[in-house]
Amino acid sequence: MSLLRFEAVREASGRKAVGVETPAERPEKYYGELVFNRQKMFEYLPKKVYDELVYAIDNKQPISLKLADSIAEGMKQWAIDNGVRHYTHWFAPLTGGTAEKHDAFVEHDGKGGVVEEFKGKLLVQQEPDASSFPNGGIRNTFEARGYSAWDISSPVFIHNKTLCIPTIFISYTGESLDYKTPLLRALNAVDKAATGVAQYFDKDVRHVNCFLGWEQEYFLVDEALYAARPDLVMTGRTLMGHESAKNQQLEDHYFGAIPSRVEAFMLDLELECHRLGIPAHTRHNEVAPNQFELAPVYEECNLANDHNLLLMSIMSEVAKRHNFRVLLHEKPFSGVNGSGKHNNWSLGTDTGSLLFAPGKTPRENLRFIAFVANVMAAVHRHNALLKASIASATNAHRLGANEAPPAIISIFTGSQIAEIFERLENSTDDELIEFSAKEGITVGVSQIPEIMLDNTDRNRTSPFAFTGNRFEFRAVGSSANCAAAMIALNAAVAEQLAEFKKRVDARVEREESLYHAILEESKELIAKSKAIHFDGNGYSDEWKAEAERRGLDCETSVPVIFDAYLRPESIEMFTKSGVLTELELRARNEVKWEMYTKKIQIEARVLGDLALNHIVPVATRYQSILVDNLVKLQSLFPADKAAEMSACDRDAIEAISKHIAAIRTYVKQMTDARKAANRIENEREKAVAYHDNVVPSMDTIRYHIDKLELMVDNEMWPLPKYREMLFIR
Ligand code: ADP
Ligand code: MG
Repeated sequence: MSLLRFEAVREASGRKAVGVETPAERPEKYYGELVFNRQKMFEYLPKKVYDELVYAIDNKQPISLKLADSIAEGMKQWAIDNGVRHYTHWFAPLTGGTAEKHDAFVEHDGKGGVVEEFKGKLLVQQEPDASSFPNGGIRNTFEARGYSAWDISSPVFIHNKTLCIPTIFISYTGESLDYKTPLLRALNAVDKAATGVAQYFDKDVRHVNCFLGWEQEYFLVDEALYAARPDLVMTGRTLMGHESAKNQQLEDHYFGAIPSRVEAFMLDLELECHRLGIPAHTRHNEVAPNQFELAPVYEECNLANDHNLLLMSIMSEVAKRHNFRVLLHEKPFSGVNGSGKHNNWSLGTDTGSLLFAPGKTPRENLRFIAFVANVMAAVHRHNALLKASIASATNAHRLGANEAPPAIISIFTGSQIAEIFERLENSTDDELIEFSAKEGITVGVSQIPEIMLDNTDRNRTSPFAFTGNRFEFRAVGSSANCAAAMIALNAAVAEQLAEFKKRVDARVEREESLYHAILEESKELIAKSKAIHFDGNGYSDEWKAEAERRGLDCETSVPVIFDAYLRPESIEMFTKSGVLTELELRARNEVKWEMYTKKIQIEARVLGDLALNHIVPVATRYQSILVDNLVKLQSLFPADKAAEMSACDRDAIEAISKHIAAIRTYVKQMTDARKAANRIENEREKAVAYHDNVVPSMDTIRYHIDKLELMVDNEMWPLPKYREMLFIR
């Protein structure tokens, strides 16, 4: 074993769990202690200021600079009481992850000393020099200013002794440069549109909230092994590595006992989450070895998303304390499951009803049918866009792979809803009118007595599944910002609901009864969007063929999938719902293509380097040992005896030569393809060239390296192997 690898493996296998004490207090004591929540606002702000702020938050109103000054003062005091010296605007740029720039509260006092100050102006708005954040050409370098502005709906919190202020990030000219801005717009759009429809059933509804419950999957690897894998360090995934003889085939990891080192990490992580007000709830082993999941209780979508972004950063920090590295990449190891981040999504009224939950009365059930039908129609119409919203260079390794949703969006409803929809579709107008007469306002729905959903009716192969009172968008990648998916989904549903309301109102104007109109329109939507409904096995090849026939988007090339954002119907939908302008859409796609190219470019460079500088020299050295042996055998034994004895060596020498030659050839091909692609100016064309011409050689190079891994002396192999990395002891 190479010395580096030997040391890394020895270090990893010698590790004990880091001791973490379960605190003596119950979670109610420390839950949210690092969050400037309403309780702290009440404590630190004058009563009048508190009332005004809470009113602004609840009614989505802006706050005045005067009010901001008072809030900032209280916030600063709370921060100082917690030993905090710095503050930062905390936002999510288009690169992914989160960005922060820390400033101290310190200001000159004019007498040679300092005072700790925090003005409302600094709380509400900042101008980070943001020229190095991607903007897709919106901002010229001479106008490099971007604004970050406080999102009062997401509470301020303390992280790493810094006061973090969740903000949106926009350009000098007002275009969004982040995920939060369009997410808030999409949530407003769906609130408005869904409220309009929900009021048909309940006049008291004032707002509809969107809820998100994400399930974060991740891998852990020991820090020492991670450090000995340049591909993991630089790209987040292994670019080579032969499958371990044992991986997940015994299905002995999923829901199995959690190794003690990992359990200590999880306990530590959950404590951090709870102190930060992230309602971590579920933890378990996932399917692949070293793969785990954390899921919180669902929350309002914008807050839930901030919490997921925060979780992703604290996970990495906590993992380091436990000598682990957390891998959020969608496919860190080939041959075992990848990681996703299921987005459980629902809409609920401020009167307490979940709109995708069937109710007890026919009226509630009609509402349920109407909302589900609208979701189906929106997902059908924008299936290509929804796929684009979850597509990335990293998630591409997972989609379409055996265990993950295919690169085709469809909806699973379960047999009960499928049956109800079928009955509805086949009912004649006369029948409906008859029901109408019989049941008064509860037209038609009397044929759906009470919908009792059987929650066990699950289909893991569906990318978008109905699960009782919510939809689960499963195609989202583990490293993604959920906002991308939530923006597209909520905007599409908002557009659909607004259209639905228009059509229902028009029918009512023509003197049709309201409930009959709703039912008729829902029926039409169900019939129209039938193609999106698929309850079968999404992993099967038959489904791919069937989906083509149904006209669903089956594109698999990520840079081309991004085109869906710029289709006329997408531009219309985003602009009409006020979520993104055409300029923003075009700029954001430039960033997507650029990010795609850069990710593949880095991978290709690392792979080329590892192949030529790590693998080929070692394989050559091993081969020359074999040659040496062969020559010695020939000098010791008669020719025919020596030939017989060294036949296997001879084969191995030849095979190694072939693999080495192939590696050299394909690395050259990959490098040439990269150089050619780099000369392309247009970002889309460049990304397409990387996808079409660079990625295929990468796969071939890996194939030959993995073959060599099985042949070369284990002692010489320079990189930790899958079997060493994938089983935490
Ligand atoms: P499973 O793994 O079976 O899909 P989990 O319990 O791991 O389920 O995760 C389900 C997630 O869905 C949790 O985060 C949960 O809070 C969330 N969830 C439950 N009900 C809703 C809802 N109405 N809207 C949004 N999310 C929900
Ligand atoms: Mg789930």
